[in-house]
Amino acid sequence: MASRAPPALAARYAHSSVGARACTNRPYLLQRNSLASAWKRAVLRLAHWPASARALPRKGVAFSFFKIGSPAPKLPEVVKAGDPVLNEPADPVPLSEICTPRIQEIIDNMIAVMRAVPGVGLAAPQTGIPLQIIVLEDTKEYISYVSEEEANLQQRIPFDLLVICNPILKPLGTCRARFFEGCMSIEGYRGLVERQLEVEVSGFGRDGSPIKLQASGWQARILQHECDHLKGELYVDKMLPKSFRTSANLRLPLASGCPKPGLC
Ligand SMILES: [Zn+2]
Repeated sequence: MASRAPPALAARYAHSSVGARACTNRPYLLQRNSLASAWKRAVLRLAHWPASARALPRKGVAFSFFKIGSPAPKLPEVVKAGDPVLNEPADPVPLSEICTPRIQEIIDNMIAVMRAVPGVGLAAPQTGIPLQIIVLEDTKEYISYVSEEEANLQQRIPFDLLVICNPILKPLGTCRARFFEGCMSIEGYRGLVERQLEVEVSGFGRDGSPIKLQASGWQARILQHECDHLKGELYVDKMLPKSFRTSANLRLPLASGCPKPGLC
């Protein structure tokens, strides 16, 4: 999910401090056939990384500038709308594979890409990996780029980095809210999307431990946006069509008859 941070921030790259962690082996719960298929697709996608990883510099730009040490590895580009990986359901991550270097590297790359753009959420298919992994975080700094009134209306509160494998969302209550969303895969546009105001998400952390948490406001919206990616759905699939606009036109009035942003 795109943040509202100004373009200047894109130049400031913050690498994940969350590296691969040791974890216990967990039961192998998934069917081999589906795993083989998931891995085949993931490996095929990974094979494309070197060709597509052109745009985003990794940590240590300053170091590579001074040519100290080996060249910094490249990050994958964000996959843009039109690539079928964004329209197809992603496969679950085998629980026994979460702690492997391959999955940990995918997660590290996702965090790095999300922060480099910068955005407040990213799903693995957006890096070309058809696996059910999402990362999200919101910071005081990002929130400071919207007005206090807007942040309050959106119930936007900072939260620490969350990494969730195989997330499952459950709606809580019946309250819904409608706000403009953007997406790193549909750069430069916004649309009004109505979503659940509160959700519960369960899944597994990057160490393989079960996660369950309740979220509301903007965090709940990010979770729903990213989990939609794992189903092969984009926000444009569920937005109010007449609200669609360029980011530059975000503040223009809505057409008559188009529902307004806010609680439903
Ligand atoms: Zn998105």
